[in-house]
Amino acid sequence: MKEAKLKILMVSSEVEPFAKTGGLGDVVGSLPNALNNSGLDTIVIMPLYGQIKQEYRQKMEYLGYIYIDVGWRHQYCGIFNLHHQNTTYYFVDNEFYFNRSKFYDNMDLEKFSFLSLAAFEVAKFINFKPDVIHCHDWHTGVVPALLNDHYRHQEFFKNTKTVYTIHNLAYQGVFAKDHVLGMLPLDYRKYENTNIINMMALGIQYAHKVTTVSPTYAQEILTDTYGEGLQFLLRHEVRKLSGILNGIDDKLYNPSSDPFIAFKFDKDNYVEGKKENKKALLAELGFDVNSAIDKPLIGIISRLASQKGMDLLLDILHPLLDHDVRVVLLGSGDKYLEGEFGRISYFRGDKFRAVLKFDNALAHRIYASSDMFLMPSAFEPCGLAQMICLQYGTLPLVRHCGGLADSIEAYNEYTQQGNGFSFNNYSGHDFYNTIMYALSLYYRKDAWNQIVQNGFACDFSWIKSAKDYIELYKKL
Ligand code: ADP
Repeated sequence: MKEAKLKILMVSSEVEPFAKTGGLGDVVGSLPNALNNSGLDTIVIMPLYGQIKQEYRQKMEYLGYIYIDVGWRHQYCGIFNLHHQNTTYYFVDNEFYFNRSKFYDNMDLEKFSFLSLAAFEVAKFINFKPDVIHCHDWHTGVVPALLNDHYRHQEFFKNTKTVYTIHNLAYQGVFAKDHVLGMLPLDYRKYENTNIINMMALGIQYAHKVTTVSPTYAQEILTDTYGEGLQFLLRHEVRKLSGILNGIDDKLYNPSSDPFIAFKFDKDNYVEGKKENKKALLAELGFDVNSAIDKPLIGIISRLASQKGMDLLLDILHPLLDHDVRVVLLGSGDKYLEGEFGRISYFRGDKFRAVLKFDNALAHRIYASSDMFLMPSAFEPCGLAQMICLQYGTLPLVRHCGGLADSIEAYNEYTQQGNGFSFNNYSGHDFYNTIMYALSLYYRKDAWNQIVQNGFACDFSWIKSAKDYIELYKKL
């Protein structure tokens, strides 16, 4: 007899290509397809944000509506679906919650309570009895607790298990107890001794399995340095904790077919291909192309946040720009950092350009055109950019932590192994010296080429990660 397909219900606040602000969107955009390609039956539930593009909206099918009680509010919940690649996505529609100018704002507790409840209610509406509900980050961290306190008693969810993935422990969703309990059907007796409720802690406590997005980060968060105050809880729950390194969508990030880049290339003609792209990007950014084309181009694409080591970058940027290099930074976020990078971009415009916005197409052009890519993160749950840049023959220079440690091996001149550069201490001094070392190799073309080829040979596709997740689901 044929074995029934494992049914997985994913619920997330971000899913590429519909809504993304960072790695969470990338992961939930790729993992379900990889799971379905491996024979699982995975669906995804997410908000119908006002920002979702018309090209997707017009292909959606309206399935009907239900009502969901969020505290005293009896809320409309329209349900749409869309088949995209190999996965069916279900969008929950409520304009009050999701037709707003930003994905995240001061309505977060209520709108993600709505989304978390919708995961269960929509599953019933479409008659999808999940073996596993897989939820992500603080926004849906309450889902395992809802199953435990409320939905477990319903026949429909009798056998359902939960997996909770931490993409970033730093964002926990901490709210006043009364607000949370006023919004969600949780067992109030469990919270008698506290005034606050931490959504991420609920996910860790009540999920059957907890994963982080890299094995090293799963270890790091047990320590006081990286534990963000949840290290005690995590140590207590350590037996259900593991780390699975994210993959990247190798179709989306492929220099031989990338629609956003000026010249396509692959590992055999990357030198010429990158040069043509670099020429186009330098011109686009307003650099003097002739004097810059043969000089190292250093790229940074990042949220501007101290997590990403942007304060280290700020520390060393002036001395770095005293060398014959060009640096382009694409990022947005912290207003102080935006101001500082904007100012340096103005005064040192001959060598440095800061583009302070979120621009996916420009990101692809920077990946394709840069020689080197900087990620000096203070901590990094997984990080995708370092894997993406390797697809384009761009060498990452990273701080050795979290997923960066699991994906980037520092070049060793003696064995000629390694796919990038890395430093250990969170110090501007070490960061700067490592950049200097990398720049010294830039002009030794044989060594540089060796590292680039080592990078091209790495396999960061989702196939391996999907296998690890399937194993985990099966254990449940
Ligand atoms: P995080 O999720 O912590 O922000 P990751 O490295 O895991 O960091 O993922 C970041 C993703 O977001 C990458 O795909 C990167 O290219 C993209 N990204 C970050 N900032 C920008 C930006 N300003 N414009 C376009 N893409 C960006």
